Amino acid sequence: MERIIEKKQNNRSEILDKIVSLAKRRGFVFQSSEIYGGLNGCWDYGPLGVELLRNINEEWWKTMTYRDDVEGLDASILMHPKVWEASGHVENFTDPMVDCKQCKARFRVDLLSEMINEKKKAKALEDLRNEIINDSKLVDKYSNAFQTEDPFSAVLEDQDLSTKLLQQINCPQCGNKNTFTSARQFNLMFKTFIGPVEDSGAVVYLRPETAQGIFVNFLNVQSSSRQKLPFGIAQVGKAFRNEINTKNFLFRTREFEQMEMQFFVKPADDKKWYDYWKAERLQWFKDLGMTENKLRYHDHPKEKLAHYAKEATDIEYEFPFGWGEVEGIHNRTNFDLSRHEEYSGKSLKYFDEESKEKFIPYIIETSAGASRSFMAFLVDAYYEEEVKGEMRTVLKFHSRLAPIKAAILPLVNKDGMPEISQRIEKDLRKDFKVFYDDKGAVGRRYRRQDEVGTPFCITVDTQTLDDQTVTVRERDSMEQVRIRIDNVSSYLNDKLKF
Ligand code: ATP
Repeated sequence: MERIIEKKQNNRSEILDKIVSLAKRRGFVFQSSEIYGGLNGCWDYGPLGVELLRNINEEWWKTMTYRDDVEGLDASILMHPKVWEASGHVENFTDPMVDCKQCKARFRVDLLSEMINEKKKAKALEDLRNEIINDSKLVDKYSNAFQTEDPFSAVLEDQDLSTKLLQQINCPQCGNKNTFTSARQFNLMFKTFIGPVEDSGAVVYLRPETAQGIFVNFLNVQSSSRQKLPFGIAQVGKAFRNEINTKNFLFRTREFEQMEMQFFVKPADDKKWYDYWKAERLQWFKDLGMTENKLRYHDHPKEKLAHYAKEATDIEYEFPFGWGEVEGIHNRTNFDLSRHEEYSGKSLKYFDEESKEKFIPYIIETSAGASRSFMAFLVDAYYEEEVKGEMRTVLKFHSRLAPIKAAILPLVNKDGMPEISQRIEKDLRKDFKVFYDDKGAVGRRYRRQDEVGTPFCITVDTQTLDDQTVTVRERDSMEQVRIRIDNVSSYLNDKLKF
């Protein structure tokens, strides 16, 4: 068997289209409000999708909180508006955007580089150089941009050069030149109002990240759970960002789920714990079967660090459209707790009984997207294989993530086979998400289960009637073993353990 999708390097968008279409056809993901034409950047998880998402959340929750130094939390989505002033989101959570005056399309300036091909970028940069040739200040800035890995993006990031470069670029949507407005900062937080009066005093925000709920509860959790440093607080929940451009299916959406953990440490221990969590988090993806060479770290260079961060890395996955972040690990220093202390007027200091010192802990953050991880696990599991001259599509999910753990199939609909199968189904349902299917040839039923990633198919056949055994077919190897009906449940239990 061969992994055909790996050969189709030049056909990456076709693969994504196939995955999106499978996701819809088999009930993983639907467009939000589809019958009304959809709502951009929002998606609904169907019967199988919600199982996969819950399994990802569950695996994360177990790994992160079934340990003695991490506690769980579920903070509310709406928070006091001052939280977002203290966090810096009101002031800084912005992206630069431009509109095309011709076709009205809107773009995030920092993402334009990904939308324009290399030849056009080189041409635009050359035209810009000719235009600024007599302005030595701009020429210096231009040369500095060429010291970086991505000169085009570096030029776009510079306020003076950016406006001029935008005049040289053709709009990626309508192709017209010199049609961009100048760049404006756009705050990504969704605003709403609390109570009946829609005035500025009633403004609240849908949280753009779950982390702040953890920071403001630091002392509540610490004192109620009697934790000592180092310890962490973990939370899974929805976050909302009014992204300028949503794209690539679940990769960048306006409503999504995060799985975040903030680990509070003594300042002197920050490096040790940063390195520890960096390694742990990559391992989590690997342990759940993600292809190793499609995972990598992207360490942020010092000059690109967010204002609060001392060190940061992204765990990236190689999606069909290229490498993209699935999780960020940051050393946030004492920035967050200091700011909340300042804005709330309440002390958030920790008293260390050993040294008798009072101080604000440092925070090491692990911030993963549940929906982005969902997409990475889905893409990674997708294979098209040739088996005995026929193609099969199979989702090779780790069995812990698979939405359905086993399918029970009577070989034929007679001779008592359906009754035995239903008894097995009823028994397994107590512990596992299983599926009963008696429609069509058994080979086709196997294929239907392969396509949704069911790791085991249990078939009741003629021999079952004689000796109370069934076959169990394993999805990836397609090998079959015969086991006693009494042992099916413990067999599955064993196989679903790590
Ligand atoms: P990006 O640069 O891709 O916008 P970010 O650096 O702003 O992401 P963080 O604020 O670090 O992302 O958020 C942590 C995680 O939340 C990301 O690694 C990603 O998995 C997820 N995430 C962030 N924004 C979105 C989004 N719009 N849609 C889906 N997931 C998201």
